[in-house]
Amino acid sequence: MSSALEHLKMMMEKLGIEPKRSLGQNFLISDHVIDKIVKAANDLQAETLYEIGPGLGALTRHLRETHKNYHLIELDKKFAEFWRSEGLSVFEGDALQMDWSELPRSGKTVLVSNLPYQISSSLVIEKSVEKNPLDAMILMFQKEVAQRIRAVPNTENYGMLSIVAQLTWQIEMLLEASGRDFQPPPNVASRVLIFRRREQVLVEDPAKFLKFAKACFIHRRKLLAGNLEEGSNIKRAQVEQALSEMKLKPTARAQELSLKQFVDLFKKLGY
Ligand code: SAM
Repeated sequence: MSSALEHLKMMMEKLGIEPKRSLGQNFLISDHVIDKIVKAANDLQAETLYEIGPGLGALTRHLRETHKNYHLIELDKKFAEFWRSEGLSVFEGDALQMDWSELPRSGKTVLVSNLPYQISSSLVIEKSVEKNPLDAMILMFQKEVAQRIRAVPNTENYGMLSIVAQLTWQIEMLLEASGRDFQPPPNVASRVLIFRRREQVLVEDPAKFLKFAKACFIHRRKLLAGNLEEGSNIKRAQVEQALSEMKLKPTARAQELSLKQFVDLFKKLGY
């Protein structure tokens, strides 16, 4: 197979396109990065595979070889038409707006994407609070977003995105990529994370947990009890009582609590 860069040049010429910045079209050209993502995806042995944004096929041309039930979601009409003409299953539209229940799904289902950065945080939140989450995801992020997703308590990056993502997934880093690994090169570093769905469900209604998590972190520097009173109409005294039962100070701030403590508090408050 041709190298990723040769393939990209050939495809750009064939389709006569210029990358669209508005759609986050930074195409992967590093064979090393592509090989690692493709290998990780193959190792997951998905029965159904989704990819958001196949673009010019850096991942698609490899993954189509190993996955029969492979469905692409692409907003750019030209790319959608191209992959359809190649005989692949394409859902044309915005990955954040579409109804994912319309996608064919059977057995172990995995999502792979070199995500357009504009949609990455919202996409992770959406996929983390679904009633019937995917089995795994391999996603490329801007480094700072990846850091927020995997952050631990008492660090600057720890916040709503961290606890909502970690509620549903065990998350590990697969690789780091630099601007040089893309064409055109973005001026930020990137990371690829692997998300594996937790075996144990931590809360029955993750969408409610999302509302709770948003309220907890509504003001980063203020007290958790005050934030919850403001963001969710639960009386401050009730939150303080729950915190004391959990052996936490009434003056605790959200950044100090572990995921387990958030889950306990969520349940205690009967959210
Ligand atoms: N997979 C290719 C690669 O790695 O070279 C392209 C990745 S590029 C970073 C992002 C891709 O997502 C582009 O193909 C772009 O058209 C598509 N895209 C952008 N916004 C989208 C959205 N909201 N929903 C679905 N696809 C989107």
